[in-house]
Amino acid sequence: MTDLPDIRLPADLMPSDGRFGSGPSKVLAPSLVSLAETGASLMGTSHRQPVVRAVVAQVQDGIRALLGLPDDYEVVMGNGGATAFWDAAAFGLIERRSQHVTIGEFSSKFATVAAGAPHLDAPEIIAAEYGHAAYLRGDESIDAYATIHNETSTGVKLPITRPDGSGIVMVDATSAAGAVAIDHAEYDVYYFSPQKAFGSDGGLWLAICSPRAIARIESIAGSDRWIPPFLDIKTAVDNSRKNQTYNTPAIATMYLLARQIEMMLLKGGLGWAIKRAETSSSLLYTWAEQSDVAAPFVADPDLRSTTTVTIDLVAAVDADTVEGVLRANGLVDTFGYRKLGRNQLRVACFPNVEPDDIESLTAAIEYIAARL
Ligand SMILES: *Cc1c(COP(=O)(O)O)cnc(C)c1O
Repeated sequence: MTDLPDIRLPADLMPSDGRFGSGPSKVLAPSLVSLAETGASLMGTSHRQPVVRAVVAQVQDGIRALLGLPDDYEVVMGNGGATAFWDAAAFGLIERRSQHVTIGEFSSKFATVAAGAPHLDAPEIIAAEYGHAAYLRGDESIDAYATIHNETSTGVKLPITRPDGSGIVMVDATSAAGAVAIDHAEYDVYYFSPQKAFGSDGGLWLAICSPRAIARIESIAGSDRWIPPFLDIKTAVDNSRKNQTYNTPAIATMYLLARQIEMMLLKGGLGWAIKRAETSSSLLYTWAEQSDVAAPFVADPDLRSTTTVTIDLVAAVDADTVEGVLRANGLVDTFGYRKLGRNQLRVACFPNVEPDDIESLTAAIEYIAARL
């Protein structure tokens, strides 16, 4: 890359916090202080003992309260993040043939896992061009459907509806859960990692499972399929019921997640979080629509993400340069998803991000663009 122009943002354009990344995302300072204050009582103690299991239970109960889960849905956890969950799902949730909506990098990655699994039939792929939507189609040859609530790479948010057909419905909610409304009747598995909308750290997956999902997990676990123990969802279910994970979790991640959920519940719950994301994202889209240098990447307003906003810049304003100048000024991680290959910025509007800081960011981008 060429040398960055030396552009210093005036003080009145500086946000209160310069973290705009789509994951890992902004972690709240009070959560980190709270973690430090646990001193010798938590970190460095056994994950099988009551102190740590209480934190796991806080996360499970907190997710249940925040999302308003039906009583018979379970909050299952394991190590490795959403990426590990795809592998686990290929072993423990897909019986024979899956169908995948692929609208970006993340949804495509799960499809690739299923396509490569030697014990499964070739999956059915329903693809859309990046920036657009695709939808599940009911089909009796399909026993597991895979879609995505928010495609982080493109900034497309999909409505989640159960297709006709008896297959279970698995939803990648990694960058939506905790900031977007969801109807629990429309899925069987709603899975995510905690370093996006939940503003914690990575390394963990959480999967909300309906009774139908649990039945599927148990039926496959009882079959003669070989499942690597680390990826065995039945083992994860058994451990989650005891408020623990199969192997050692990142306890700091778990603790930060518990504090984050507690904060969200105090602020007003999921409704509050949804509103924050909507406020921030609409500030960005409205600005981009009116700006001479920017435009929303996703053409259909109904599909525009409220959590990961993708903004194209005009060719004369190089996105990498803008990103670099923003970073030099302490406004970080506004880069677009590299593999999209567009002149684009991407801005997280997760609940931890202040709408006022989004306004500062748009003003900062205009300021920089005018000086390039
Ligand atoms: C970030 C992300 C993932 C991957 O999460 P990891 O925790 O890094 O495995 C998967 N799906 C979506 C939609 C994501 O945004």
